[in-house]
Amino acid sequence: MKWGLFGGTFDPVHFGHLRAALELAGMLRLERVVFIPAARPPHKTQRVIASFEQRAQMVRLAIAGNERFSFSDAENQRPGKSYSIDTVRFFSESQGNPQVYFITGRDAFDAITTWYQWEKLLQLCHFAVMTRPGYEQRGVDRILPPELASRYVYDEKNDLFSNDAGKCVLFRRTTFLDISSSGIREHLLQGRDVRYLLPDAVIRYIRENRLYGSWGGR
Ligand code: ATP
Ligand code: MG
Repeated sequence: MKWGLFGGTFDPVHFGHLRAALELAGMLRLERVVFIPAARPPHKTQRVIASFEQRAQMVRLAIAGNERFSFSDAENQRPGKSYSIDTVRFFSESQGNPQVYFITGRDAFDAITTWYQWEKLLQLCHFAVMTRPGYEQRGVDRILPPELASRYVYDEKNDLFSNDAGKCVLFRRTTFLDISSSGIREHLLQGRDVRYLLPDAVIRYIRENRLYGSWGGR
């Protein structure tokens, strides 16, 4: 049983997230991709705008109808900051002991060494990194410190395997839609139309709840 855990702020969730997660699930034959909004993201203390419940509701609306996609409020169940390592432990120990792939975009993975207990995290689960064409492995040897990077070897499929823990870091090229939550928030703030950047149901929710200063625009 292979599960992908897709953590993010999702402030708001958009088609870039959804499309990349769908493609990755197909490539890695993941039975399930769990979208896990961060309750108190350690990296984004200043910038999170919508509440956890609002971001969670937008994710629920966005993934409705896709049986492979599910939602979890695991990070909101725990007090304190939302650390990925706790989330991975929680899901690895859940029913059926799924094999866990932690899903990130390339930008998030590039900052991995700033994550709480990142060395342990790399030993606890696989990583599936969504990259855009041309960026598959660029600079990967600069992400992990040399003494650790030497424990990893590349194989012909451009994957990065750990020798001892048996966990791997997989780089997979997914269709890169150049969409970001911050870009969407900026559009909304300026009163611009955000259709085709994120699902209509999420746009409706944003309007109804007057999120991101969107009350003035169309
Ligand atoms: P912000 O603009 O506020 O940083 P974001 O669009 O990057 O938001 P996050 O919630 O920060 O969204 O991202 C969650 C995860 O999704 C991260 O691992 C990030 O790398 C990845 N991601 C973000 N945007 C895209 C995209 N357009 N395509 C594929 N992956 C993405
Ligand atoms: Mg981001």
